[in-house]
Amino acid sequence: SIPGVGQSVIPLVNKLQDIFSQLGSASTIDLPQVAVIGSQSSGKSSVLEALVGRDFLPRGTDICTRRPLVLQLVQLSRRDDEKSEVCEWGEFLHAPGKRFTDFSLIRREIQAETERELGSNKGISDKQIRLKIFSPNVLNITLVDLPGITKVPVGDQPSDIEARVRTMILSYIKHETCIILAVSPANADLANSDALQMARMADPDGSRTIGVITKLDIMDRGTDARNFLLGHVIPLRLGYIGVVNRSQADIVGNKSIRDALIYEENFFRSQPIYHSLADRCGIPQLAKKLNTILVQHIKAILPDMKTRINAQMVTLSKELAGYGELIDSKSGQGALMLNIITKYSQGFSSIIDGKNEEMSTS
Ligand code: GDP
Ligand code: MG
Repeated sequence: SIPGVGQSVIPLVNKLQDIFSQLGSASTIDLPQVAVIGSQSSGKSSVLEALVGRDFLPRGTDICTRRPLVLQLVQLSRRDDEKSEVCEWGEFLHAPGKRFTDFSLIRREIQAETERELGSNKGISDKQIRLKIFSPNVLNITLVDLPGITKVPVGDQPSDIEARVRTMILSYIKHETCIILAVSPANADLANSDALQMARMADPDGSRTIGVITKLDIMDRGTDARNFLLGHVIPLRLGYIGVVNRSQADIVGNKSIRDALIYEENFFRSQPIYHSLADRCGIPQLAKKLNTILVQHIKAILPDMKTRINAQMVTLSKELAGYGELIDSKSGQGALMLNIITKYSQGFSSIIDGKNEEMSTS
């Protein structure tokens, strides 16, 4: 299958989650949300879809994303996986229990649910559509697809549409834990990017904003995004990634994600101007950058988790000592528990100290 976002982080998170479940602890690793923002038709939905590695979002030249789509990826354990016939499916909050195994039907349901709320005449709403995707190949992470910034109201849109969309976007990206993918199309004036301007409002020091430049394939002839990708125009601490998504003709012609990734790779290979920027070009590089950020986030919260585990160990040791001479089944269980904890806390230490190969982000 196509490597989606976070896949290389999965073994690390699994190992940590193992430790917690052995401890009977309810702690889970809360990963940051990722939100895509930008002007309408800048390629936000396309980028999100490519990151997930599945085709399921409405995309197009007109306004497609008219309600926020909160996409929760849910990792199935191998055991759940064996039990069920189908290994990947989607489920909407508004249709509980209904499994969508055909991802093109997920797209159709997003459109239908948008229209149920808003009709078909381009109106927008901040009422979320919530979709869970269950798969053994994903990390438990939440991605948010948002309506784009648009200046001129059309159809049912209110006269203050721009302000409304901006308020909606801000309500997501203002949270300190939100990673912002600021999407700007390369065929428009990058220096005036709506996405970068909004990202700066929510994240002034740029510590959680990744710049994504789309449509590098349809830039004006003789121009390129090199300076922009290098951060010479608008610097961003986490930097920029340039991508080539499927064009409208590709969408009409049903080009697969796999073919799109091959096309993108060939595009960058054929453009000498981007050769020295290979680590800033392509969807796989964007996924890699996100993985690095996720691992850094996990590293940052590990010491706190270790403290909690140590506290639990102390409590259990005391309890064990309290059994005294009595050798009954209860103390046997206690000793077993202590063994497990000791073993895992050693594993935990090696992860924290960075000796663990799973901390790598490749
Ligand atoms: P959104 O409104 O920001 O979610 O944008 P979409 O993902 O729906 O894309 C809008 C239109 O731009 C669609 O017709 C896409 O096919 C097209 N598009 C998006 N990214 C690219 C790209 O990198 N290159 C080309 N040629 N077209 C793109
Ligand atoms: Mg969209």
